[in-house]
Amino acid sequence: MKKTILVLGGGVAGLACAARLLELEPTCEVTVIEADTQLGGLASLWRCGEFAADLGPHRVYTELPEIATLLPELIAAEDALQVERRSQLYLDGHYYTYPVRAGEILRVMGPFKLGYYGTSAIWGQIRSLVGRPLSYADAMRQAFGDALYRKLIEPYTRKVWKTPPEQLSEDIARVRVSAGNTNKVVQRLLRRKDKQSRPTALDRFTYIRGGVEGLVHALENRVLERGGSIETGLRALAFESGGSGVTAVCAEASTEESSDSFFETDVVVSTIPVTDLSAMLGSKLDEGVLAAKQLEYVGMVLVGVALAKRQMSPNTWIYFPEEHIVFNRAYEPKNFDPGMAPADRTLVVFEVTARLNSGLWRKTDSELRELVVHDAVEAGLFTRDEVVETFTKRLSHAYPIYTRNYRQLLSAVCQALGQIPNVITTGRQGLFNHNNMDHSMLMGIRAAECVVGNYPSPAQAWYASLDQFAHFRIVD
Ligand SMILES: Cc1cc2nc3c(=O)[nH]c(=O)nc-3n(C[C@H](O)[C@H](O)[C@H](O)COP(=O)(O)OP(=O)(O)OC[C@H]3O[C@@H](n4cnc5c(N)ncnc54)[C@H](O)[C@@H]3O)c2cc1C
Repeated sequence: MKKTILVLGGGVAGLACAARLLELEPTCEVTVIEADTQLGGLASLWRCGEFAADLGPHRVYTELPEIATLLPELIAAEDALQVERRSQLYLDGHYYTYPVRAGEILRVMGPFKLGYYGTSAIWGQIRSLVGRPLSYADAMRQAFGDALYRKLIEPYTRKVWKTPPEQLSEDIARVRVSAGNTNKVVQRLLRRKDKQSRPTALDRFTYIRGGVEGLVHALENRVLERGGSIETGLRALAFESGGSGVTAVCAEASTEESSDSFFETDVVVSTIPVTDLSAMLGSKLDEGVLAAKQLEYVGMVLVGVALAKRQMSPNTWIYFPEEHIVFNRAYEPKNFDPGMAPADRTLVVFEVTARLNSGLWRKTDSELRELVVHDAVEAGLFTRDEVVETFTKRLSHAYPIYTRNYRQLLSAVCQALGQIPNVITTGRQGLFNHNNMDHSMLMGIRAAECVVGNYPSPAQAWYASLDQFAHFRIVD
């Protein structure tokens, strides 16, 4: 019999999964449903009048051999722009080059202050020989010393994650820098390589002409060429179950153009937030639902400010660790691809993270725009006269928050999900994984391979194999 497979979510994980399913089993019937009107999820293009931006500029970089082979098939060589990284960090009214240059710090701080931070860092390293870090705060104190931790890392962490660093897992350091110990953080800050000669920070990277949606369209084309269907504007809302697991998915139209639908299915691969999936499965998960309720994502508001000038700065990113400035990071899409803005104007996008129930998130778009413009003017980025127009975009699931107990919670959720044999959750949102696109694509591909793998319970095989993703690391 023809197998019917429903993929929830049309980000890169869902699309890569659907394409691989159809490659492995061309006769199966694969449908992707996406709640948004456009595909791509976090890898979508944001159109702001005559400007365009990724939702956070998406560099293309991978250390995964399978994805390194796949990417040139998806992105034409002439569209793979090579961009030189130029980033800065704003602290105490100075813009420092980032990763930092020792000479520059010495010039700005002077030998005494630098000596103070240096000595404190050496003490931190000595302490790391005695005790394993129990939290992100411990890990960072050991890597950088108390002084730099308090000055830079503590405020930046609170600001990005909206969580005290003592409550966060050491995994954040491991994932964002490199699998291994947190000394890699220092290596990255100083732009060194790790023991296997892999970069700890990127000097140059690939950016897709016209934005990351180029990759999404290439994946979409693969799914369609292989006979799959994709429906946008449809939000999966509820499951129907029988003896052998889920038998159908009810989806509600999220736009006027689409209509409510009902999909009978043999298997569901979900890439939607695992918290939403667990809520949809409800009582079937028992304790899994309770655990899922404790997993939280931090949201992000992107504020785009269009300026009546050719360029604000030549930087790819500028970081703002201090808490009195509302945004964490700023970027100019034009510095990644000049085609993202008209020649005589530029767009600067500011990233503001916020918990979904917080006062910051509840502010109106115009209040947030005003806060951002005010702080940007104070930081000397532009003048009010130069502002032509402002835009806002909200991402409800920007980053999974790795609290100290997130692994136990996730494992309880996965254990409960394993009882439903024909539902598999994968991707960044589906496995609560702070990852990059290459990782998400591989997670989608591996989920497809598991579905067609003739296991009596694909779900149990899947949740027993999640260690395969433990080595993922993000190189910034
Ligand atoms: C600020 C920022 C910068 C980043 N920069 C980079 C970078 O430089 N390089 C890089 O490689 N990666 C980067 N990433 C990470 C990258 O965006 C993600 O790893 C990747 O896009 C995740 O893909 P996904 O398909 O797993 O999840 P998502 O993209 O989140 O896809 C999930 C999809 O499910 C849909 N959905 C949710 N609920 C439902 C429902 N009920 N029914 C149907 N559909 C639903 C969503 O709309 C979404 O489209 C960045 C991420 C952020 C936030």
